Amino acid sequence: MAPENPQLLTIGVDLGGTNLRIAAYSPDMGVLHSIALPTRLEAGPLAVVDDMCDAILELLALYSETHNLAGIGVGSPGPLELPAGRLHHPPNLPGWDGFHLLGEMEKRLRLPVAVESDANVAVLAEYTLGLGMELAVESLCMLTLGTGVGNGIILDGKLWHGATGMGGEAGHMTIEPAGPVCGCGNSGCLEVCASATALVSAAERMIGDGEAPGLAHLKANGAALTASDLAQAARQGDPDALEIYRQTGRALGIGLAGLINILNLPLYVVGGGVAKSWDLLSPSLFEELERRSYVYALTAPGRPASGGMPGGGTRVLPAKLGPEAGLLGACILPLHLSRATLTSPSPFITRSERV
Ligand SMILES: [Zn+2]
Repeated sequence: MAPENPQLLTIGVDLGGTNLRIAAYSPDMGVLHSIALPTRLEAGPLAVVDDMCDAILELLALYSETHNLAGIGVGSPGPLELPAGRLHHPPNLPGWDGFHLLGEMEKRLRLPVAVESDANVAVLAEYTLGLGMELAVESLCMLTLGTGVGNGIILDGKLWHGATGMGGEAGHMTIEPAGPVCGCGNSGCLEVCASATALVSAAERMIGDGEAPGLAHLKANGAALTASDLAQAARQGDPDALEIYRQTGRALGIGLAGLINILNLPLYVVGGGVAKSWDLLSPSLFEELERRSYVYALTAPGRPASGGMPGGGTRVLPAKLGPEAGLLGACILPLHLSRATLTSPSPFITRSERV
């Protein structure tokens, strides 16, 4: 017999270029159950959507007796056109240009689905369950440093989409006009100056030029270099690895100085794998903020104009949530979007009713 007061349930999907993660989530209990699958890019987008929908239905079958579905949230690599839910030349999903992700999922599931960029669901998680909650702020900007540089912005409690869903692409602001060429076609974007990929490329360039003997030795000893190898070398005092992190912090500081001058928000969060090396990045990052953003200089915690700011001034901090931020954000996306309509959640359908 169904319980008298069924709990709310959401399903979140973290669609990555390598892995798919699908989780059942309850606002009271958190993640109840999750499924991880490889993303079968070689089989094409329709096959990947089939895998996602099969896993979603599997989770719904587990909880249909005890929970009411509030919606399904998906975090997808961008650029993503909203509200259509269509992808445009996503660099991490080759062959998906023009793919109508939202439409294909709704066609299969006949349930409410919400799609957002992976950076937007990450900032939503940090806002709802991480530093946003801890500092009680309603606006924040997050940069996620991974393969690329993702960006999500929340203004007064709402995700900032811009006119077509492509707002918040700070990863493609120009930092070094003559810098390396970016996948977007520009050169010197934040993404090619401060992502994990950029750190490794910088090391490779130095090794190629015969400038970094310690890093060349590191590379000769093992497989491909990673950002964590470089962080380890930096902590052991390798001057070239230290310099690469210093330059990365500098690029981040230049980018953040622009964002702070434009937005004047109480919180900027840096997430993703590279942010684990905050100790290596932050000295040059804050040096640039002090130099290039007078808004930061005036509003950092304890400064003259920080008094009225929620959270106590302009905070620039490493993310609180780790690699789960994307999946958690996808799980809470339906709750965020439908706060007003949560009292009438959608009924479940059974597997046999699937189109
Ligand atoms: Zn770019």
